[in-house]
Amino acid sequence: MQELIDRIAAEARPRAAEGKVADYIPALARVDPGRFALVLRSADGQEWVAGEADAPFSIQSISKLFTLALAMEWLEPDGPDGLWSRVGREPSGMRFNSLIQLETEAGIPRNPFINAGAIVVTDALMTHRWNLETAFRAQMRLLAGNPELHYDAEVAASERMHGDLNRAIAYVLRAYGNLRQDPQAVTDTYFRACSLAISARDLARAAGFLVSPQGEGACAAGHHARWLRAIMRTCGLYDQSGEFAFRVGLPGKSGVGGGIVAVQPPGMSAALPQGFVAVAWSPPLDRFGNSVAAQAALEALAGALE
Ligand code: GLN
Repeated sequence: MQELIDRIAAEARPRAAEGKVADYIPALARVDPGRFALVLRSADGQEWVAGEADAPFSIQSISKLFTLALAMEWLEPDGPDGLWSRVGREPSGMRFNSLIQLETEAGIPRNPFINAGAIVVTDALMTHRWNLETAFRAQMRLLAGNPELHYDAEVAASERMHGDLNRAIAYVLRAYGNLRQDPQAVTDTYFRACSLAISARDLARAAGFLVSPQGEGACAAGHHARWLRAIMRTCGLYDQSGEFAFRVGLPGKSGVGGGIVAVQPPGMSAALPQGFVAVAWSPPLDRFGNSVAAQAALEALAGALE
């Protein structure tokens, strides 16, 4: 297995040259494009790693997976005025920060993994918990088993400075009656969640609850995990989710920090029948905002573990 991981990492890593590091958040533009990590973690806790598995990177939109998990855990998503009356579960076919559908669909974001949807999820969580930033970090520390996880203040400030589009989304949501808290307070908290610094190894551990029936911490398990995987499959890579499903075939979630997490539930892989989590990280992105080399690594890995 270690040989396989090393070979896939060596083949995928140069693909970074085809992408471009996110520059609309200036603090992210400074990241070295040559960095790379690949982590494979079986559901029973064996780990194989290549590259900089312990180097923290910006979680960015992968945070949307964990805020949605918290919303499923803490809120009653099916209740009246519940999350599923405020956010859809369909792929958007649009850029992750697009405003267009909010206008045509009366302020209901297509899904929780585009920015508009995650901003509604953040708003719902803030209505439930007065200090969501501390609670979210605590949850991530618990899931990753790492009490040192922290927000990157520079990334959060940089995104806040250049966050007009996300603030615009929040104001449109409020205009349609789909935001309860102050729009800027919600986007500030959303930016903080996106700024969490986490390594590929810790991210693979934190996502373990999606494939292990017992879960690795107090987070959505059982049918919640099945629902989360479904939304990852259909919406996890924005308007490239269909292509990722075709090439990789695993539920996944990406972020503009260059990370992608993919999961295989138990019973689907002959090589690892217990199920696994794979995390790949390489900062240069394609035009959809998804890491080029991370996708290549996950495609090769999923093929090899079929
Ligand atoms: N924080 C980023 C934003 O709101 C997250 C986007 C992403 O990772 N796709 O633009």
